[in-house]
Amino acid sequence: MVTSRRYTLGLMFETLQRACGPQRWWPADTPTEVAVGAVLTQNTSWKSVETAVAAMKAAGLLDFRRVDAISESDLADVIRPTGTYRVKAKRLKALARWVCRRAGGSIERALEGELSELRRQLLTIRGIGPETADAILLYAGRHPTFVVDAYTRRVLRRHAFIGADADYKAIQARFETALPRSVEVFNEFHALLVEIGKRHCRTRARCEGCPLESWPHDSTAA
Ligand code: SF4
Repeated sequence: MVTSRRYTLGLMFETLQRACGPQRWWPADTPTEVAVGAVLTQNTSWKSVETAVAAMKAAGLLDFRRVDAISESDLADVIRPTGTYRVKAKRLKALARWVCRRAGGSIERALEGELSELRRQLLTIRGIGPETADAILLYAGRHPTFVVDAYTRRVLRRHAFIGADADYKAIQARFETALPRSVEVFNEFHALLVEIGKRHCRTRARCEGCPLESWPHDSTAA
């Protein structure tokens, strides 16, 4: 299947915006909470992330200086509701170390600077991959970088915008070249793709009623 030129990522963005309305992401009160949530959400449901974030808040741990100071096992106990909580405690501690070394515990100040250098540094932190790094940079640091997740890949694949072997960088480049390099646009488009992925574009697609139903697609593409 070849997608005609009239179907563009810009049109997809407008179509999803019209159908779903504003998403108001990221669902968090502070940049610290965004960054913590971005680590906790790896391979787990958002519901369990909310529970773990609430537990961290109650323990006064939505503060990277406190996360840096607490022992890894005590932190793991607090975030137990998220899957793989021991691994995530290690990752949160590593991120906290970076934030404390770089900016005395302030994620806002730690994320000041040039995007590609910040991204390079975040990717050196153990357990922070491209998706987590970009989520932190976009939603906590307000840097214009597109977040690619499994839903994004699936929607683009099923609508023939990418091939089966497209990697993270190639998918990200599709968005960053097709759209204005804007924090607001990247923020909203990623959130809309997550919404469509949850509502319709699941492993087994529910195309009926999907805002992209009339677009050429192969709902069985992996
Ligand atoms: S559910 Fe169907 S129409 Fe909607 S994005 Fe997925 S493949 Fe496209």
